Amino acid sequence: MERGLDLDLHVDESGDGGARALIEIARAAVRLGFKGHLQCGHCCSLAVQDEEFVLETLGAVANAGIAIVSLPMCNMYLQGRTAGKTPRWRGITLLHELKAEGIKVSIASDNCRDPFYAYGDHDMLEVMTQATRIAHLDHPFGDWPTAFTAVPAAVMGLSDRGRLRWAIRPTWCCCRPASCPRCCRVPRATASCCATVAPSTPRCPTIATSTPARSQRVNDLRDALSGLELIDHPVQLRQRSRDFYWYSPILKRQLDGKAADLIAVPRSIEEVMRVAAACARLRVPLGVRGGATGNYGQMVPLQGGVLLDMARLDRTLWIERGRGRFEAGVRLEAADTAAQQSGWELRMFPSTRRQATVGGYVCGGAAGVGSIRYGQLRDSGSVLALKVVTCEETPRLIELRGADIGKALHAYAPRASWSKSSCRLRPLSLDRDGGGLRRLRRRGTLRPGARPVRRIIPEARQPDGMAAAALLPRARRGRPAEGQHVVMIMVAAGGEAGVAALAAEHGGAITLQRPYREERGHTPLYEYTWNHTTLQALKVDKDITYLQTIFPPESNVAALIASHEMFGEEVMAHAEFQRRLGRTNCSSLQVVRYTSDERLWEIVRQMETLGIKLSNPHSYILEDKGARVPSADLQLAFKHESDPHGLLNRER
Ligand SMILES: Cc1cc2nc3c(=O)[nH]c(=O)nc-3n(C[C@H](O)[C@H](O)[C@H](O)COP(=O)(O)OP(=O)(O)OC[C@H]3O[C@@H](n4cnc5c(N)ncnc54)[C@H](O)[C@@H]3O)c2cc1C
Repeated sequence: MERGLDLDLHVDESGDGGARALIEIARAAVRLGFKGHLQCGHCCSLAVQDEEFVLETLGAVANAGIAIVSLPMCNMYLQGRTAGKTPRWRGITLLHELKAEGIKVSIASDNCRDPFYAYGDHDMLEVMTQATRIAHLDHPFGDWPTAFTAVPAAVMGLSDRGRLRWAIRPTWCCCRPASCPRCCRVPRATASCCATVAPSTPRCPTIATSTPARSQRVNDLRDALSGLELIDHPVQLRQRSRDFYWYSPILKRQLDGKAADLIAVPRSIEEVMRVAAACARLRVPLGVRGGATGNYGQMVPLQGGVLLDMARLDRTLWIERGRGRFEAGVRLEAADTAAQQSGWELRMFPSTRRQATVGGYVCGGAAGVGSIRYGQLRDSGSVLALKVVTCEETPRLIELRGADIGKALHAYAPRASWSKSSCRLRPLSLDRDGGGLRRLRRRGTLRPGARPVRRIIPEARQPDGMAAAALLPRARRGRPAEGQHVVMIMVAAGGEAGVAALAAEHGGAITLQRPYREERGHTPLYEYTWNHTTLQALKVDKDITYLQTIFPPESNVAALIASHEMFGEEVMAHAEFQRRLGRTNCSSLQVVRYTSDERLWEIVRQMETLGIKLSNPHSYILEDKGARVPSADLQLAFKHESDPHGLLNRER
């Protein structure tokens, strides 16, 4: 009041019938004689309060001249959300009743493709379409369209905006005045209701920053980051802004051509903090690049800005007693080698071990070679500590330990860019006794008479050991004869005899055996597993894509067989096993012969009938990856704390 400011408050955003903030704000505004614009957002709890109290509140709000803004898409998305339960209410406030009291009601949306609302496109036409359905704003539309246009403009003191008036030439108009029903009826992708009003009208505004603004931004950044290693050559910017999203024809369409405005290559934590501070001050999006082997465009800068390349933060800090601490840019191969020199090794790694970084694995990866025994990265004990840099004007260095690690794990870095981590190691070559083979036998994958499976790769590990490929008698230049199995196994040194005995027991023979060599030009066997399987298939057929699915724990093998019978060669089975919640379960990276998006989604729908769930690899949105992570709420809170301007890995 002292400074004559207007107020916009987020109020009672819950399903709590006892919430009282709205009425208290209204009473306080009258009591204090507040004269500015006062707007309250959300007010969801009004919808679950008793009639008498609602009337009292509406009266107080009208009396205080408070405007209300509702955000139906986010409210419907967040309210009543309890894992495993169908929401029982829509989460929005009493729009019709508020309006009937003469209260100014606006409708908008306050989050976009972030943890508070996973969808949206900053598109008010979508807000209008959805709100019409959610809140029954039609039959008749009446003057509800003004709730998206003239009313919010007036509340913000922009009385010449959001309305068509005689003698005022609009710059753009998103739909013809009489076409509201059409807007709500036609799916947005095909709607063509953007009408240019004057020949000189610019295109409808998009999120992309215009070129002059962008070059100014780059200049400001260059000034702020002088002295740091910077990359701004357009070809390098494009090349280094890509990961393996092109596995997906859908992501390829969406992400091709996206690039950072500037790449910064910090050499110390202080330099990381300098970059974070500059981005926060200039409100520039900030992304982080590890080895750029992510599959979903996780590190592709969607809105330009700065990309932090962690390649030079590559020091192994210490390794002792089953633990190691690494800077974020250390490649997993280097981390593993360093651990092996001390008699330890990584408990698990992705098949991109040779390119991926420790930081990228923790922020973008999930599991990998070693996960049959040790589960997933998110399982407690895999990652022991993380040091993260917040993205604020004055960045902080926070160390996360214990359950707090979940705040930043597998979050595509929208929480904070992190600089160091401690990971649990395991003693080198535990598997000398052939434990992996015993598991293989137990699972029955080598059962005589089992269905022919082209390739079974069990827990491929033991970089120090021998790679043995136990090929059953080869026919036709390396191809197995009809009905024969091929088993390729990495075995710990000393385990070769066990493999030979097992093969003999099942009428097989070792047809190729070679030692593991950690050298360029020598493809390790694990580079045929996990998503390398897709890569190997893509080398043969460019029209191939993939799916990523989780199988029903109780009927892994049955679902695998049923899916093979359902799709034949169109969807080639590729099963990976990993420990989830205490039991070994199958997840799959099926190789798919892609024909169209429609067919791909049809395959997914049919798989769902078998209980096979999609973890969508054709989307860069974190929440599309299937099961909600247990620490999602922690992550949300941490995002607010560590990235208050929402700049880190924007739009995911
Ligand atoms: C052929 C192939 C096989 C694969 N196999 C596996 C597998 O077996 N298991 C598996 O889990 N994944 C696998 N992946 C996915 C990917 O390789 C892994 O997730 C890998 O660990 C990513 O590491 P990276 O260093 O390349 O990260 P990037 O791709 O560079 O980044 C991944 C994400 O982490 C963020 N990030 C990177 N570094 C930091 C940091 N220091 N601070 C904050 N955020 C950061 C990025 O912004 C991005 O969101 C595979 C991918 C391919 C192409």
